[in-house]
Amino acid sequence: MTVPSIADPVRSAALFERARAVTPGGVNSPVRAFNAVGGTPRFIRSAQGAWLTDVDGNEYVDLICSWGPMLLGHAHPEVQAAVLDAVRRGTSYGAPTEPEVELAEEIVARAPVERVRFVSSGTEATMSAIRLARGFTGRDVVVKFAGCYHGHVDSLLASAGSGLATFALPGTPGVPESSTALTLVLPYNDRTAVETAFAEHGDRIACLITEAAPGNMGVVPPEPGFNRFLAETCRAHGALFVSDEVMTGFRASRLGQWGLDGAVEGWRPDLMTFGKVMGGGFPAAAFGGRADVMSRLAPEGPVYQAGTLSGNPIATTAGLATLRLATDEVYAHVGAAADTVKTAASDELSKAGVAHVVQATGTMFSVFLTEGAVRDFDDAARTDQAAYAAFFHAMLDHKVYLPPSAFEAWFLSSAHDDRAVQTVLDALPHAARAAAQA
Ligand code: PMP
Repeated sequence: MTVPSIADPVRSAALFERARAVTPGGVNSPVRAFNAVGGTPRFIRSAQGAWLTDVDGNEYVDLICSWGPMLLGHAHPEVQAAVLDAVRRGTSYGAPTEPEVELAEEIVARAPVERVRFVSSGTEATMSAIRLARGFTGRDVVVKFAGCYHGHVDSLLASAGSGLATFALPGTPGVPESSTALTLVLPYNDRTAVETAFAEHGDRIACLITEAAPGNMGVVPPEPGFNRFLAETCRAHGALFVSDEVMTGFRASRLGQWGLDGAVEGWRPDLMTFGKVMGGGFPAAAFGGRADVMSRLAPEGPVYQAGTLSGNPIATTAGLATLRLATDEVYAHVGAAADTVKTAASDELSKAGVAHVVQATGTMFSVFLTEGAVRDFDDAARTDQAAYAAFFHAMLDHKVYLPPSAFEAWFLSSAHDDRAVQTVLDALPHAARAAAQA
């Protein structure tokens, strides 16, 4: 059922057609194309606070927040003012600037890292962290978990081989077998698999990389003590523990996922990666960690890593303004709004008789349309994707823009006020009924 206040996406459709003629699939990152849910992807003209406006003039409550970064909502006046001020001075110099130092200081003050290096995307951050781990340890093997996404790094676009401790296969054409031959892919939350892999290959493992709390198969929280177990296992074998907080960093809590486990339990990762919120909606990401490991990086050490736009002054200004405004009150607000949406989604799906489970870590959550808890990628894969597509479109028809894929986190911001949340609550009964009928 279409609601009259949503205009047909005529202009979006026309732009999509033009886009497809000049760009593969018409988009610059696959999930934007609505392939998993069908229909016309909305081309966005502008955004303010919790709301997106598409090129047809339709407004939607944004539950993607640019896939995480917009913790303060869109076009936050103070972030915008800082960015405009920076732009007026110039946009890139290829020489060091003050905002880079300030943002690095802010991150070092908040996260358990002693040094950070800025890059332009999460992909670069994880790629560089792995190179550094290999350079530091003099070892080659990398361990990752199925369903954890770390960007499109060749060696990490890998799917599990047969058996627990066998090396991986390329996850996409274009990645040679030689690139994944040194990657072990294990099931998430599975301590036995980790123990087996380290027992067999421990002296060859440079690092284990994990999403601090996976959000890229939907939110699958680490079981209590799992990250600590990973950190301890790595330490026992002389491997580095790389915690990827590109999504969870400064998002799941003020101190990221680490604030929910490591800070409480008293352990630190050796290396971490960050992105999204710390770039304030601009292309900025970072990796950081122990001073002795980071000092192996050029120009201090021999491990090469560089970037023309790394630490770009506009991006670091936006990130700095965002982090400085991301107070405890912001996280409390986002958490409370998330709780309201989670509860309502679950209630409406229950009323409509749709099997589902809502999973969360800190302020991040997702709704899986499947029976029972999701603790790894195999569980997540049982999600009813047809039901999710129906749910998604009913929400869109009722002015709510959800992730166009069943395997993603839903994100809110400090700008999600009562009106925005009420719009979501009003849409949910329609969407739950649509999912039940799919
Ligand atoms: N790591 C994680 C945990 C991510 O969620 C993402 C992006 N979704 C990346 C790395 C890659 O970041 P980017 O898209 O900026 O390359």
